[in-house]
Amino acid sequence: MRLSGLWIWLFYCFTSFCAAGEIELTPAETQWIEDNPVIRVARDPDYAPFEFKNAQGEVDGFAKDILAFCAQQVGLKIQDIQPNSWSDALALVKQRQADLVTVATITPERQDYLRFTESYISLPVVIITRTDIKENVSLHSLRGQSLATVPGFAINNYLEQYAKNVDIKLVNSVEEGLQQVSLGQINAMVLNLGTASYKMQELKLINLRVAGITDYTYHLSFAVRSDYPVLRSILNKALLSIPEMERQKIINQRLTLESYIWKPGKLEVTVFIAVLISIAFVVMLYWNRALKQQVKVRTSEIESKSLSLEEQIEERKILEQKLTELALHDPLTGLANRRKLLDRVRLEWSRSLRSKSPISLLLLDLDEFKNINDNYGHDVGDAVLKTVAEILTETLRDADMIARWGGEEFVILLPETELSQAGSVAERVRRKVENSKLAVGDVRIKFTVSIGFSTNRGGDKSFDTLLKLAEQFLSQAKQSGRNKVCGN
Ligand code: GH3
Ligand code: MG
Ligand code: MG
Repeated sequence: MRLSGLWIWLFYCFTSFCAAGEIELTPAETQWIEDNPVIRVARDPDYAPFEFKNAQGEVDGFAKDILAFCAQQVGLKIQDIQPNSWSDALALVKQRQADLVTVATITPERQDYLRFTESYISLPVVIITRTDIKENVSLHSLRGQSLATVPGFAINNYLEQYAKNVDIKLVNSVEEGLQQVSLGQINAMVLNLGTASYKMQELKLINLRVAGITDYTYHLSFAVRSDYPVLRSILNKALLSIPEMERQKIINQRLTLESYIWKPGKLEVTVFIAVLISIAFVVMLYWNRALKQQVKVRTSEIESKSLSLEEQIEERKILEQKLTELALHDPLTGLANRRKLLDRVRLEWSRSLRSKSPISLLLLDLDEFKNINDNYGHDVGDAVLKTVAEILTETLRDADMIARWGGEEFVILLPETELSQAGSVAERVRRKVENSKLAVGDVRIKFTVSIGFSTNRGGDKSFDTLLKLAEQFLSQAKQSGRNKVCGN
């Protein structure tokens, strides 16, 4: 049950494309295909099972299948380019020597030269350690230890920001990183769940386990060169048109254990199953309780009621929606995560441009939070974060969006809110936090926050600019003694 749980999870992470059917291309899109009948794809050689070079030296993987289907739908031909690394693949598109990559996650730097389609699969990033590390780990608990990652991976920007005290080791490939962890030369490695499971099986690294989960999720998309926006819209239409049957076929081919299991002996089978059970166990442990509850309830309902095929499909769609929703929330506080906030930003910014209405942004950071962790322990630190999240939820309007930006920072988006109102809201939040206490045994812990804020008046600033301004004001608030609100 646990073994299959992991794969059921991956299965549900495959983004649901609900508008399956005929593709209606615009005249400009049809013309573009006529002018550019062959698209050059820079392939990642080392991102199994999504995209990789197989034993015969050919491109293989889930992303290849998805793109092949999309290309066939719209009459495009594919020319594979096989660079030596993912960084080289990105460089080729940047230099316009290739037209797209297929396993990309959005990062601010990549947005300078790439345009991203809708994502077609979502994958959490997990932390792999040796099995002799018994406790569960987080980026926080890895401070002072070494952590492997591969150059060019999108998680690296996140690590720079949220794993400052961790010794990041860049390795040449996923395989090299996992082997060094297995040999005890590096303490841990960060990888997406799909690649981690696949590679640990393929390399038979039975002394490795998934020991933790980060709050970073990869949303894989196709990413085309920025001067080819029409190609992006063509591929988006093709992705949306993938019919349910085809979707099932690709999932069954690519994301089932059978495709990748080596031919094992009896002992290997036992050890392999034990490793997978422990992986699945840890993943399930971390995964939101509500999710587990829903999967259980839904699964047993489906089994016991022997639902008809149509009903089962309907059930699964609802479940997919719920899982997608869960993937957009921070597991500790239940608030929206970075991804969800950025989705909302897109919406609010176009609304603000249209209606010329203001949007304000608050950036809130707990003061000297490190001391709380050091003095009372990480669990108390977590409880403080939850308390702040509750205060924010109580204080703000339904129309406002509160997100955990990472670590001990929160971003709050206040649509239709002028600068002066934003200042009052920030001050109200600051005061409420200042007056709250968290009881730990007999001790009552007090904590404070500093807030930087800024306002976009009808589209005069981008989200990034607004965030940068809020960061500057937050830093002013810290410098002027903390427990302060600054903005302009
Ligand atoms: P400042 O007032 O300048 O912001 O000081 P600070 O101590 O709050 O800032 P610093 O950046 O030095 O430390 C932030 C700490 O937050 C360090 C990190 O270990 C801790 N932290 C980040 N995420 C979590 C979490 O999820 N739970 C807990 N308990 N601590 C976390
Ligand atoms: Mg901070
Ligand atoms: Mg802080």
